[in-house]
Amino acid sequence: MSIATEEQTVVEKVPKQLYIGGEWRDATAGATLEVLDPATEEPLCAVADATPEDANAALDAAVAMQKEWAAIPPNDRAGILWTAFEALVERADELALLMTLEMGKPVAESKAEIIYAADFFRWFSGEALRIDGNYKQFANGTSRVLVMKQPVGPSLMITPWNFPMAMGTRKVGPAIAAGCTIVMKPAQQTPLSMLALGQILAEAGLPGGVFNIITTSSSGKTTGPLIEDPRLRKLSFTGSTEVGRSLIAASAKNVLQVSMELGGNAPFLIFEDADLDAAVEGALLAKMRNIGEACTSANRFHVAESIQPEFSRRLGDRMGALKMGRGTEEDVKVGPLIDQPSREKVAELVRDALQKGATPVVGGEIPDGRGYFFPPTVLADVPREARVFHEEIFGPVAPVGTFESEGDAIARANDTEYGLVAYVFTRDLKRALRVCEALETGMVGLNQGMVSNAGAPFGGVKQSGIGREGGKEGLEEFLETKYVAVNL
Ligand code: NAP
Repeated sequence: MSIATEEQTVVEKVPKQLYIGGEWRDATAGATLEVLDPATEEPLCAVADATPEDANAALDAAVAMQKEWAAIPPNDRAGILWTAFEALVERADELALLMTLEMGKPVAESKAEIIYAADFFRWFSGEALRIDGNYKQFANGTSRVLVMKQPVGPSLMITPWNFPMAMGTRKVGPAIAAGCTIVMKPAQQTPLSMLALGQILAEAGLPGGVFNIITTSSSGKTTGPLIEDPRLRKLSFTGSTEVGRSLIAASAKNVLQVSMELGGNAPFLIFEDADLDAAVEGALLAKMRNIGEACTSANRFHVAESIQPEFSRRLGDRMGALKMGRGTEEDVKVGPLIDQPSREKVAELVRDALQKGATPVVGGEIPDGRGYFFPPTVLADVPREARVFHEEIFGPVAPVGTFESEGDAIARANDTEYGLVAYVFTRDLKRALRVCEALETGMVGLNQGMVSNAGAPFGGVKQSGIGREGGKEGLEEFLETKYVAVNL
């Protein structure tokens, strides 16, 4: 099959309608929204553009199914997740191509995301069998304390475009394991991966109404009424801190249980005793994974003064050697950014840093031609006041500055309202633990440039979020605790 035909086939295979109550159907008004390939700026296809009425129908379906679904044996819920896990792995190549077409990252990275996404189903398939409670003697010895865990109930999930599949399965896996029903709203720029997931879950035997998908061009207008609907019990959101804040405020009306995976501004600290080879490798991964469009991306490099010039030069050599192009082409390591405003923001942050005195090492200029490309860029000697140190870049730009002491490194790392992840490179064990304890983040990469793992509690503190996804903690987000005081 030619590459163009293969691309067409994977796009054609995906349902383009809304998935409500186990049926694929058009939006009420018959409207559609276009999905673009960010590498070519050309349309790939159109999907249904849901109205608030459609969203309400999706919630109706989720509410109608909640009781029945919660009563389904854990073995059956686990089995469905396991079957879907296997299907994701089996179909990883075609799903990776689909993801690259709608999101832009190189196919190899898309495939890694599909495997990572599938892993949440494998993990939560096991966790579905381990939901437990507690039975203990009350302190006075007479009565008993019984603690039971129950599903939270119908849950609204809103996901971003940067990891179109994994940000979905990280929520859907634990919700299914816990016995919750779902209304899912993927990002309008990347709806196809989620629609493919709907198809996979249906084929895996998930009953209609448990997982409902609404794709829409008007996210606020469409999901707003659901958040105000007292039948909804949970909002699980991944996206920007700005939108997260407004959703937390809206959730206050019905005191919804919320999980928030929000923005980051990850510091990457390299001490003078670090293994520099490992630090450069880690930096490359933490910066360039997902073209820098990850909440966990290293946003700023703070390096001991004595090694800063060598680190900047070596990172510049490595980043400058990465091939940029359409993610479907061979050997491409850097795809396009998601859209023009995102690319313009990245370019603006680079201009600001250069104006304030940063030294360009590599990259920095928007290339000619189609597609929202921005080249891997390293800036050295970046002054503290540069915006690039304080705002989420979401692109392949590595600003490097220095620190004077361990205390200074920690102070700089914590000088942000975000608290998702930090990276620390040092060979001194005592220092490593001291710094890990002092960092105000939900996660730390210690001598490693990646933290994502289905079995670990992923999430942030400060304005990077509320709650955790993955690990046993990820399941807790979809469970309520009920205490029964037992009179013996
Ligand atoms: P975003 O603009 O906040 O959008 C995220 C999702 O929210 C999309 O589905 C979007 O829909 C929807 N949305 C936007 N406004 C809304 C509203 N008023 N009501 C309801 N839904 C609304 O973020 P993004 O640009 O897609 O994603 C990048 C951000 O996500 C970054 O800040 C990144 O750090 C963060 N992120 C965090 C994590 C984490 O685990 N902490 C993981 C990945 C990404 P439409 O796009 O369809 O309008």
